[in-house]
Amino acid sequence: MIKLFNPKNPDFSELDEKSKEIMLKTIKFFEDKGIEKILEDDFSCVWYEDFIEFQKKEKIFSSLLTPSEYALEKNPDAHWDTNRNCYFNEITSFYGPPYWYTWQVSILGLGPIWMSKNEIIKKRTAQALLDGGIFAFGLSEKEHGADLYSSEMKLIPQEDGTYRANGSKYYIGNGQTAAFTSTFGKIADKDGNILHYPESRKVKSSYVFFVANYEIKGYDCIKNILQNQNYVAEYALKDYKITEDEILAKGQEAWDMALNAVNVGKYQLGWSSIGICEHAFYEAINHASNRILYNHAVTEFSHIKQFFVDAYCRLIAMKLVSLRSKDYIRTASQNDRRYLLYNPIIKMKVTTEGVVVINLLHDIIAAKGYEKDTYFQGALTYIGANPKLEGTAHVNMALIVKFLPNYFGIGVPFEKYPHVPKIIDDCDDSFLFDQGSAQDLGKISFHDYHIAYNKYDLPNVNILKEQIEVFKEMCIKATPTPEQGQDIDFVLINGELFTLAVYGQLILENAEIYEEDDDLIEQIFDCFIRDFSLFATKLYTKPMTNEKQMEYCLKMIKKPVQDTERFERILKKVYAHKGIYP
Ligand SMILES: Cc1cc2nc3c(=O)[nH]c(=O)nc-3n(C[C@H](O)[C@H](O)[C@H](O)COP(=O)(O)OP(=O)(O)OC[C@H]3O[C@@H](n4cnc5c(N)ncnc54)[C@H](O)[C@@H]3O)c2cc1C
Repeated sequence: MIKLFNPKNPDFSELDEKSKEIMLKTIKFFEDKGIEKILEDDFSCVWYEDFIEFQKKEKIFSSLLTPSEYALEKNPDAHWDTNRNCYFNEITSFYGPPYWYTWQVSILGLGPIWMSKNEIIKKRTAQALLDGGIFAFGLSEKEHGADLYSSEMKLIPQEDGTYRANGSKYYIGNGQTAAFTSTFGKIADKDGNILHYPESRKVKSSYVFFVANYEIKGYDCIKNILQNQNYVAEYALKDYKITEDEILAKGQEAWDMALNAVNVGKYQLGWSSIGICEHAFYEAINHASNRILYNHAVTEFSHIKQFFVDAYCRLIAMKLVSLRSKDYIRTASQNDRRYLLYNPIIKMKVTTEGVVVINLLHDIIAAKGYEKDTYFQGALTYIGANPKLEGTAHVNMALIVKFLPNYFGIGVPFEKYPHVPKIIDDCDDSFLFDQGSAQDLGKISFHDYHIAYNKYDLPNVNILKEQIEVFKEMCIKATPTPEQGQDIDFVLINGELFTLAVYGQLILENAEIYEEDDDLIEQIFDCFIRDFSLFATKLYTKPMTNEKQMEYCLKMIKKPVQDTERFERILKKVYAHKGIYP
């Protein structure tokens, strides 16, 4: 059964000895530092040199972020294993999201390098990791946000076969000190002209990914954009010399590299939200159970009971979905790219569920959640950032809905894939760096989602199943018109309904694997029936929704089956977390 992470009694039973040691040392680092100093450094925006030094001494980034093929003699066991990296995401976020962020952007920066065919840079990277180096990912630009087609960073070809890089990047974590900053841009003509949107969308031949280093002439780190412990840089390259040795990829390959690196990064975000929620959960339950109002503990109020049960169920669901998605990532291949749907769901849905959980807990902890000696005050801010990183939740939702026809077996028929078990071995996840073309999403087929749903004959699971079938029927018989399809607001709400179908499937698949009891499953689905009804109501009220679609929306609104005894049993489990941590 899935439990909340508890630093005092962590469950690392699914890890090998070396990985366990890394996680225990990391917990010790933070416990020794202590929450007071962690918060003090956070408030004073102190760059986390101590953490960087710690990971260097213990070779942590080197061990976790070097594919085995590039492991060096001094750290021969290094390999990239998404399973154990989940734990590191969770632990660092549990103690302080800024510590997680420097690791996260290192993952992003390493993505294009390990995907590249540039062996020189790959070998230098393995050495830099061993030397304690961190990495950066230079994709975003100040004026262009999520619109990568409009990137203006450019390489201008020179007579001697080299290039001069010119342009600037914005929001780039670690950009002031990264061993390599993987930078995305376009190759210009010799006069410095580049392709602009919409040509750059159709003709991707000019894209390029290259590495730059902050110590080399022409790399100008302008400023930290944030008032934060993190250094989120604006940097400019001014006639910065690039040779073929610094180029990671060109053309379509460079474009795919950008999207594929973000695919790797997206997944980590869910675990960061989980770690944040877990720590906030402990603070909320400790506070509420010890606070006496009108002669009663706050935990005795009926609405507080509901908030806690909802927060706990949503949090466990976040873990179930993220763990299951990891299995699909680790078994992915060119013939099975289902992870391309599950991944943006982690990014978009798990992180926004994190926001829901923190809101629920904030309603419980109330004013205490703003106090400067709590983890909670930071959680309030940091939890909101995760849905905005690696493309906003909206951009990811726009991606998710592309899979709707095939997921429902409407576009292409369901596929009979071999069963994907729980994957917790210590194999290298080499496919992550060989994902291939980011195109042809429409060709990805899915297994029949009914398989997971039909394994459970439980009242609330059955209700969500009915809601999904009505939604599916609406998609077939009252298909959105081309005009509705152009309205992103309309598409996003449909995406929310669709996402719940996939989310439920992943929960049920993992509930079986982790032998979760029916009480928990039913209580989790209680939340999602309410969510489904809410999104159906929203869709009903949209100006563009037509009469036929409105009829379907009304049919989608349903009430979960109440079971007071089940609720009380779950509540008892939830309240047993009182005093566990710190
Ligand atoms: C703390 C922090 C750290 C970051 N670190 C890095 C980093 O290390 N490297 C890096 O490259 N970037 C980094 N980023 C940038 C991050 O990836 C961008 O914030 C993200 O891509 C969105 O860009 P934007 O915030 O400028 O929003 P915009 O792109 O300007 O979006 C504005 C609005 O339009 C919507 N929108 C835009 N396009 C679409 C679409 N196609 N469909 C639907 N809605 C759309 C958005 O959802 C949003 O609501 C970081 C950002 C932050 C806040």
